[in-house]
Amino acid sequence: MLTNPLAINLKVGLEIHQQLATGTKLFCQCDCNENEEYTLVLSRSLRPAQSELGIIDPAALFEFKKIQSVKYHAANRTSCLVEADEEPPHHVNRDALESALIFSLALNSDIFDEIHVMRKIVIDGSNTGGFQRTMLISMGGFIEVNGKKTGVQSICLEEDAAKLISDNNNLREYGLDRLGIPLVEIALEPISGTPQEVMQLALGLGRILRASKRVARGIGSIRQDVNISIENGRVVEIKGVQKLEQLVKVIEYEVIRQHGLMIIANILKNERGIAEIRIDNRIVDVTDILRASSSKKILESLKDQNTVYKAIKIEGFAGILGYEPYDKIRLGKELSQIVRFYGIGGIFHSDELPGYGISKEDVDNIGKKLAIRSRADAFIIIGGILANVSSAIESLIQRLEVVLEGVPAETRAATQSGETVYIRPRPGSARMYPETDVAPIKVNNLLLDPLRQKIPRPIEEYITELISNYGLNKKLAEEIFDSQYLNLFGKIVSSTKISPTFIASKLTEDITNLERQGYDSSILTQERLIEIFNELDHGKIAKESVTLLYQMLMNHEIKDLNEFESGIETMTEHQLEEEINGILCKHLDTIREKGMNSMGMLMGRTMAVLRGRSDGQKINAILKRKLEQIVASEKQ
Ligand SMILES: [Zn+2]
Repeated sequence: MLTNPLAINLKVGLEIHQQLATGTKLFCQCDCNENEEYTLVLSRSLRPAQSELGIIDPAALFEFKKIQSVKYHAANRTSCLVEADEEPPHHVNRDALESALIFSLALNSDIFDEIHVMRKIVIDGSNTGGFQRTMLISMGGFIEVNGKKTGVQSICLEEDAAKLISDNNNLREYGLDRLGIPLVEIALEPISGTPQEVMQLALGLGRILRASKRVARGIGSIRQDVNISIENGRVVEIKGVQKLEQLVKVIEYEVIRQHGLMIIANILKNERGIAEIRIDNRIVDVTDILRASSSKKILESLKDQNTVYKAIKIEGFAGILGYEPYDKIRLGKELSQIVRFYGIGGIFHSDELPGYGISKEDVDNIGKKLAIRSRADAFIIIGGILANVSSAIESLIQRLEVVLEGVPAETRAATQSGETVYIRPRPGSARMYPETDVAPIKVNNLLLDPLRQKIPRPIEEYITELISNYGLNKKLAEEIFDSQYLNLFGKIVSSTKISPTFIASKLTEDITNLERQGYDSSILTQERLIEIFNELDHGKIAKESVTLLYQMLMNHEIKDLNEFESGIETMTEHQLEEEINGILCKHLDTIREKGMNSMGMLMGRTMAVLRGRSDGQKINAILKRKLEQIVASEKQ
């Protein structure tokens, strides 16, 4: 199914945003811990003059108009007057600056003699001041991964934005705890290669950062933006990739999406001879026609007096909107995503009509009004509040006008499943102006020389150390190094008598497996994991129960360890034996066939039934004893 990415000249540019593990924020002394509960609310309306922003695309203008008010939630330890934009920024956090300089040295990047704090305008409300502070630290350099060099474009030190909590029509809510956390942004030169090679590159860069021990760990602490293009297509920017496996899926999805759009463009140009797409005034009001339809959704929406339905004629497009060059890749889907931005549910298009309660007669009436040539032309129907519909149509027209180019430049978001969805057209480069409240920082060898000693060593050395210090195998050593639990691993190893290999596998493979099954691992906080291993060390829970315990915590079946431990006592020895007898009886055929080799399967079945109701070790012992009895009796 997948087009060969090398044949279509796939180019991928990575931009990594990594939070730093400084105790305090970039421009004040507030705590960087995001877990504190909010106690304060600030309300703002952000209204810089439109001309100041230089907005030209309708989507950005719409978004800007849409945000009528913003609420910021704050807590004492994690925000002060700096986050509230009531006080000028303090000095640049020294630790954060050093980290950015160390990464620049590690990546052979040319550091500027003088570093200036700049303000980058943001209009989405994610910064209380309407701008983000950023410093260009260095440019150029390279990273070497698996013997292949990739160029570095730039390294910046900046403040993280506030955390989006909710977004309802005209009210946006943010948490100030994340605002101002130091972030290093590393942009790499675009590379050609397979999605796997790009993933290796991202992994390699991430490892250099982690080896420094100066970066934050955990979900959301590292985020990647990915610029993806194929031959003859424009660059598409994908935001918010958080995991490496998601990165591969996103690139694979974009390759077929972008190539699919190219195929559609070629059909229009070469097979249909369309040289230009003009919509002009081929837009008509079809509200009255649809009032006569039997679509419940449409009739419901028309109860609102302000709802209108418009139809747009697209000449020569019959069959194109619903055409799938690849599975689930359709121009109709692309257009639907664009109108959603304006709070409109989606579009209807002629390739899928009659349908959705819109009859053949309705379609004919719309066709007549638009002067459709039935076998050649297509149309789109869009409905909603007039102001939204007008803005959405403007964006649709802009999008349709570039269909012949294949892939337009736009910004998309990565979904958890690895697809991408439209967010907005690609903005021009952000407007910047100097932050006059912070003096420029001079960088000289006096500052740099001691930092050269802190450049992370080659990754192989760290892996070798983990292998020799803890007796881990190479795979496990790499997994624990790449996980967010490396420091925690060291702590647990030194405070308990549990085998390092067991701890490492429980912190990596087990948690990863549960995550793949859709469980939320953020419930397993560092404190909770330490508690689990302590209880294990004291014999209060069995080794076999650790995974089950994770699962029950993630599933909200239990709130804490006490609940788990008291749950264990709920079955008497007799009840336990009865349950196990029942399970053994059901699997007698397998036991006859496989003998003692059926133990693993039986333990799985038994744990599935008795999970949390009894101790795993006890179950294991009873099961083994009974199985041995059956196997022995079968032999007689
Ligand atoms: Zn602060």
